[in-house]
Amino acid sequence: MASIRARESSDGYATTRQRASRSVPRWTTAGGLWLLGGANAAFIIALWLRGGGIAQVHTAGELWTSVGRITGLLGAYLLLIQVFLLVRFPPLERLVGFDRLTVWHRLNGKICLGLILAHVVLITVGYAMMDRISLPAEASALLTNYPGMVTATVGTVLLVLVLVSSLVIVRRRLRYEAWYGVHLMAYAGIVFGWFHQIPTGNEFITNQPAAMYWTGLYLATLALLVLFRLAHPTLRAFWHRLRVAEVTVESANVVSVRLTGTHLDRLNAHAGQFFLWRFLGAGRWWESHPFSLSAVPDGRSLRITIKNVGDFTRHIGALRPGTAVVAEGPFGIFTAAARRHDNAVLIAGGIGITPIRALLEEMSGELILIYRVLSEDDLVFRDELEQLARRRVIALHYVVGDHRAAGAERLLSAEHLREMVPDIRQRDIYICGPPAMADLIEKHVQRTGAPRTSIHIERFAL
Ligand SMILES: Cc1cc2nc3c(=O)[nH]c(=O)nc-3n(C[C@H](O)[C@H](O)[C@H](O)COP(=O)(O)OP(=O)(O)OC[C@H]3O[C@@H](n4cnc5c(N)ncnc54)[C@H](O)[C@@H]3O)c2cc1C
Repeated sequence: MASIRARESSDGYATTRQRASRSVPRWTTAGGLWLLGGANAAFIIALWLRGGGIAQVHTAGELWTSVGRITGLLGAYLLLIQVFLLVRFPPLERLVGFDRLTVWHRLNGKICLGLILAHVVLITVGYAMMDRISLPAEASALLTNYPGMVTATVGTVLLVLVLVSSLVIVRRRLRYEAWYGVHLMAYAGIVFGWFHQIPTGNEFITNQPAAMYWTGLYLATLALLVLFRLAHPTLRAFWHRLRVAEVTVESANVVSVRLTGTHLDRLNAHAGQFFLWRFLGAGRWWESHPFSLSAVPDGRSLRITIKNVGDFTRHIGALRPGTAVVAEGPFGIFTAAARRHDNAVLIAGGIGITPIRALLEEMSGELILIYRVLSEDDLVFRDELEQLARRRVIALHYVVGDHRAAGAERLLSAEHLREMVPDIRQRDIYICGPPAMADLIEKHVQRTGAPRTSIHIERFAL
């Protein structure tokens, strides 16, 4: 373990006053989005009530059918929200952060599919009761006699496949690209759902305003998707014209890539953020991967630092200067703007050092870096970190050791953290690393009694 301390600097982009002034629009955006989401949900329920709802329910069969309708409508609404959560709508991304949005997306997906499956069951049971026939006979009648039912069934099966492929146990066995490919089928599921709902749905054939309202919801979601997932990244790619300028070997399995381009001062990127990178002409242009900036963007170039862990990252070292690059972003709220205290401790697990290295360069106040690696060979940026530490008030702690070794459980335990950072409760705590490592460190940090609101985490998994 090494420790270095040096003199103070006062630069850094987010002062306390700046942070306070930014909090007003933040809550306005949050309030506006919740209001919009809630108002649409209320309007959908109101349309259902006006269209009969439970007022015209006289038999058990009608009750099942009516409840089936509202679960279907709410399921369809959550399906659109599901798309909205990942259209990369900048105000939402800035508010919540990309990684938390993916967590919401996963949760919303489960509720949404639950509602859609409930819709299928409730409607089939309700119709079977009203027609006084068996469930299989009703299911077969629905499929053969009702328009739009085949497309609805195909759409539902696709959504079930997407959910199954995302279950932890299945996803762990699938290659990321295979999982992503299956995930794209959800869009087909939504289109099939639209055909079932709007042109042929009972609710909408006789209710033109409701059909128009729902068509508006679908079109608005489609417009956001086209704008933020296609048009915006394409235009920015042409504007910034990013190219690989230089590839530098940092260690046996880590390289840094410096990129140059035009108008990089207009990217509005900050230390701690990441982009989704696509290297054109490198044989894998169709894949985009998230990598954090490993240096403060200076308006002329960007730097990312990548560890070789698989079939994409393995080829990064062979990138040639001049290779065209498309970067979507910046994303993430793991930035100095999240700070609540004057001083901070930054804890990096392995390659999680990349955004932390950039933050150390940008942040003001008295800083402590704790850098956890399995062996000395895994330490990257050692010279840069020690140079930074000499220029600023930064204490460096390298915590080296295999967690499977005897006595290693003490490393980064709450007790160990308190020894290195006696005032940890009065600091912001930034944690970054592969998910398992980041989760473990977070648990130990919480045991020190540090408030949750002071803990900021970036996990290297979406
Ligand atoms: C916000 C964020 C920031 C990151 N920053 C860095 C960084 O600065 N430096 C660094 O070395 N690594 C970083 N990573 C991790 C990096 O994205 C993965 O290691 C890389 O994508 C693995 O690709 P692969 O095909 O070589 O490996 P694989 O063996 O195919 O994948 C390893 C794991 O990486 C993830 N992954 C693979 N492909 C993708 C993809 N296209 N999109 C998202 N995740 C994928 C999956 O969880 C997969 O299980 C970051 C990850 C995230 C989420």
